[in-house]
Amino acid sequence: MRCPFCAAQDTRVLDSRLINEGDQVRRRRECNVCKERFTTFETVELNMPTVIKRNGIREPFEEKKLRSGMLKALEKRPVDSNDIEAALNRIKKGLMDRGDREISTQELGEKIMQELNTLDHVAYVRFASVYRSFQDVSDFTDMIEDLQKK
Ligand SMILES: [Zn+2]
Repeated sequence: MRCPFCAAQDTRVLDSRLINEGDQVRRRRECNVCKERFTTFETVELNMPTVIKRNGIREPFEEKKLRSGMLKALEKRPVDSNDIEAALNRIKKGLMDRGDREISTQELGEKIMQELNTLDHVAYVRFASVYRSFQDVSDFTDMIEDLQKK
């Protein structure tokens, strides 16, 4: 951490403490060159991409939406909530690992479908029917046939 007073890179941490119920670390630092002291705050940065909708509108990624979309598809299905959480975490981690700043709703939908496909086929079809916005009914039946082959 560069000193804000003399720009030296040689600074040391005097004290670290958790604040905001542990979501943030506050550090007192001292510059080894000019001896000035300053405070830094450290938080986790989750680099989630901006979601680009079909109509071109961009909106921030919202975990709440992802979760509610998946839960809606999984409604009344015999799927363990731990498995759902694990799937949500894989999707989020996948988004962070991609490193891209943007993701289309289609691409996000595909990722969700991959997870739903392994969790529960009924939920998968429910979700896909909304997100793929089928051109016609045959697309829908094609997919159900594909599932039955598996
Ligand atoms: Zn300094």
